[in-house]
Amino acid sequence: MPLPSMKDVDPTQLTLKSEFKFRCHKGIPCFTKCCGNINILLTPYDIIRMKKRLGISSEEFLEKYTHMELDDKSKQPLVRLKMLDDQEKTCHFVTPDGCTIYTDRPANCRYYPIGQGIMRKETEKGPVNEEFYFFIREPHCLGYQENTEWTIQSWKDDQEASLYDEMNREWKEVQLRRNPLLKELDSNKQAQIYTAFYDVDRFRRYVFESRFLDIFDIEKDVMEKIKTDDVALMKLGFTYIKFLLLLEDGLKVKKEYLKK
Ligand code: SF4
Ligand code: SF4
Repeated sequence: MPLPSMKDVDPTQLTLKSEFKFRCHKGIPCFTKCCGNINILLTPYDIIRMKKRLGISSEEFLEKYTHMELDDKSKQPLVRLKMLDDQEKTCHFVTPDGCTIYTDRPANCRYYPIGQGIMRKETEKGPVNEEFYFFIREPHCLGYQENTEWTIQSWKDDQEASLYDEMNREWKEVQLRRNPLLKELDSNKQAQIYTAFYDVDRFRRYVFESRFLDIFDIEKDVMEKIKTDDVALMKLGFTYIKFLLLLEDGLKVKKEYLKK
């Protein structure tokens, strides 16, 4: 997400019904000021949309436009959008006319100036993930001085953010869950998470060219789909990583492999 400094985050927790006034448009003096010197965390679905838009492979996209880091707590790899090495640390995709990949911009650019958080809560029916929202009020952003009225829900609809939420839900969940039996993530697991989550084209080669299909029983229609469908492959990647992290056993190991 465009990671704001904490002083610019309004701590009030918002719901989908919370109201606010905002308008972002080409004539506003701060136009594109929010597209530099920012810290944007990318989700697997963001990467699929952006690399497709640019007509390049996930490997090329990751190499050229991102850098990887390990999350302090979970030690899982995370991917951030790399900025240009100029004084303003400008986003690769911004021009004076706006974002050149606007219809495929990442989820956090869609939400801005709304931030989104997620909490894992214990309930009588078991743990559930609860999403919440907050305002980011950076001094350069003049959109709050405009008069167009929104609720968080109508803002999400306008920015087509709900599809992204749906696509990102399982990925977010993996960041929040931990099996206490799995002590530390070793570099091998970190590499597998990186590939399955972010490097969809390499993950496809891993599935079809390694022993993956000798080990796991993948249904025929899924197998057919993942040959060309990046989103279906991303979902298989989520299932695989949950299996690898001992969170869920959504993959069936083949009997012949178990016998061996
Ligand atoms: S991806 Fe587009 S909207 Fe997001 S920071 Fe870059 S130019 Fe701005
Ligand atoms: S109003 Fe805010 S979101 Fe819109 S261009 Fe200006 S700084 Fe960016």
